[in-house]
Amino acid sequence: MKAAVVHDFTAPLVIEDRPLPEPGPHQVRVRIEASGLCHTDIHAAHGDWPVQPSPPFVPGHEGVGIVEAAGDLVRHVRVGERVAIPWLADACGRCDQCVSGWETLCLRQHNSGYSVDGAYAQYALAHGDYVVPVPDGIDPMDAAPLSCAGVTTYKALKVSGARPGTRVLISGIGGLGHLALQYARICGAETIAVDVTDDKLALARDLGADHVIDARTQDVATEVQALGGAHAAIALAVSNTSFQAAYGALRRGGTLVLVALPAGGKLELPVFETVLNGTKVIGSIVGTREDLAEVFRLHALGRTRVIRETRRLEDVNACFDEVLSGKVSARLVFDLRG
Ligand SMILES: [Zn+2]
Ligand SMILES: [Zn+2]
Repeated sequence: MKAAVVHDFTAPLVIEDRPLPEPGPHQVRVRIEASGLCHTDIHAAHGDWPVQPSPPFVPGHEGVGIVEAAGDLVRHVRVGERVAIPWLADACGRCDQCVSGWETLCLRQHNSGYSVDGAYAQYALAHGDYVVPVPDGIDPMDAAPLSCAGVTTYKALKVSGARPGTRVLISGIGGLGHLALQYARICGAETIAVDVTDDKLALARDLGADHVIDARTQDVATEVQALGGAHAAIALAVSNTSFQAAYGALRRGGTLVLVALPAGGKLELPVFETVLNGTKVIGSIVGTREDLAEVFRLHALGRTRVIRETRRLEDVNACFDEVLSGKVSARLVFDLRG
């Protein structure tokens, strides 16, 4: 089978032929149809973060495909079913985090395309209990970005406390932000979209943002405070200045949710204002299997639209450059069918 492999953090990925993987007792082998490109894959391939993957490895944690073979102990899915392989490859299932709805914080988790081989390949192995079924009627090319970009922003909205009538700022309207904006609208919030490129600002308007702010020419905090301040701000832009601006846009008692992970990212908080304003700053990492099932249900109901473009896996290195240049206004998805 064909796979895109990282051999060295400083070298391009190599497309190579690998043997078809055989599933263990708890595993399924998935024939990948669609595999989304998440910014995390680029950080993984470059070894950008404090905890690094060990080359050689196959990136990819937005894998969607058909279960082709299953180990003897797999009960949760059947051969022939379409499933998603998300970032949470598996977790211990027994710790306090796992049993209290926070499996994404399990210390013994494995991560697809990082600590175990991921979905930048024609076939991938995955844990039968941790793949998430994709409902009929969802295009696999849409399901792929929903498996990380979708569930990550959906969860961020949940933890932000957004409710009908609250004001929610979405900082960065890219692969994640365009979905965050839609989830904020589904929550019934008044939405404020912030970006620095014309096409993303236009996309925000097209998706129905109530307010659109161009951070190149407008001061985000001033504009949002004039509206009464944001109850919640979701920080998705990979930039320290956007974190600062989102913090400054909060109203008293507001919540800043950090999601984007700039290499060496830092946020400086004025303690006095944070205390007096009762500001909450929280981090949010992906979502649970149940969160992803909810994301798929919303999409099957026609409530969300995924903006994406398809690419060939052979072009993976050019696609990384395309994303790093900031010129892509959609999620890129590798089409591995046929
Ligand atoms: Zn991701
Ligand atoms: Zn656990």
